[in-house]
Amino acid sequence: MTRILSYVPLAPAGIRAPAPLVEPTFWAKIPACFLREPDRWPMLVVMQSHASPEQIDRVVKVIEAQGLVPHVLPGATRTAIGLTGNTGAVDKSLFEVLPGVEEAIRVTKPYKLASREMKRDDTVVKFLQGTVSPSTFTLVAGPCSVENEAMILSTAEHLVSRGVKFLRAGAFKPRSSPYSFQGMGLEGLKVLEKARARTGIAIVTELMDTEHASVVEDASDIIQIGTRNMQNFALLKRVGKCRKPVLLKRGMSATLEEWLMAAEYILAGGNYDVILCERGVRTFSDHSRNTLDLSVIPPVKATSHLPIFVDPSHGTGKRAYVPAMSLAALAAGADGLMIEAHPDPDRAMSDGAQSLDFAALDALLAKLKALAPAFGRTM
Ligand code: PEP
Ligand code: MN
Repeated sequence: MTRILSYVPLAPAGIRAPAPLVEPTFWAKIPACFLREPDRWPMLVVMQSHASPEQIDRVVKVIEAQGLVPHVLPGATRTAIGLTGNTGAVDKSLFEVLPGVEEAIRVTKPYKLASREMKRDDTVVKFLQGTVSPSTFTLVAGPCSVENEAMILSTAEHLVSRGVKFLRAGAFKPRSSPYSFQGMGLEGLKVLEKARARTGIAIVTELMDTEHASVVEDASDIIQIGTRNMQNFALLKRVGKCRKPVLLKRGMSATLEEWLMAAEYILAGGNYDVILCERGVRTFSDHSRNTLDLSVIPPVKATSHLPIFVDPSHGTGKRAYVPAMSLAALAAGADGLMIEAHPDPDRAMSDGAQSLDFAALDALLAKLKALAPAFGRTM
């Protein structure tokens, strides 16, 4: 008899060994398996809206007593508790008889914690500087790289003067050529910390390897995982342990399912603040650096509760095309944008061709602010 294994991304050491990954073709057989052995699927225990903390705690204890892993997911009106780690049948009635439990639901997607089946309410990510949510539109802007202190401070000051609350800039840069500028590294992080201390702006910066996780976490308000690292599973596991939100860029040839599975690694590690970022995928197109896949936004919203940003700079590779794609991203349902902007793009040390100057950024910001209310969003 074939043994059916459910996908367990990360089981904490000491609780149980992770089950092997299922073969990719397994998921194509979901309906048949579901009918034959429905009890093998991970579950979501949905609490009643008036359930007390003690009742939630009791469900958590019952899940743990089964050797399974509970994930408490507080929602706007009720709490749900996701449950992963089962390799065999889990009896729904174990939970349904407990006080405060509304129902237990089985989850059918390969990603569990990232799916809407597990959490119906949109994830809202809160910062001192603002909130990423379906009713806001967040702009992250700044140069590709930290080049020196003066340009970061002047960029931060310009952004703050325009009400932009998030500064992007890489201290560690993933470059295709080892001879290209690799970023200022630790010195660059210090510059970003100075900009935050001086202006109060939130910092978005890339983490490229597990070695620098702690220093990047300290220096940033959002940890960026770049397209080339979307399937760096060691790095995903590490940021799952970080206490800062993660901006997870889509791999340049990743399917939606692969992208959400990458997010799943971070969520399964216990970090539920994940923001997806579409940055363009590789196609046969020769008119742009990448093909900005805005058509991924509605399916992301349908299948996941995670917020999604769009990066039209890497998506197009040309600054002239950035404004049009930014407006289109807002209209398509994105929750925010990440745009490269530089005080003097023609002299940028990386990605100058796709960077806006401050005047172009101001002009785009005015259009976004005028349009955002039409899409039910405040800026
Ligand atoms: C960047 O944001 O500068 C960057 C390197 O992005 P990506 O990982 O999408 O190429
Ligand atoms: Mn760049």
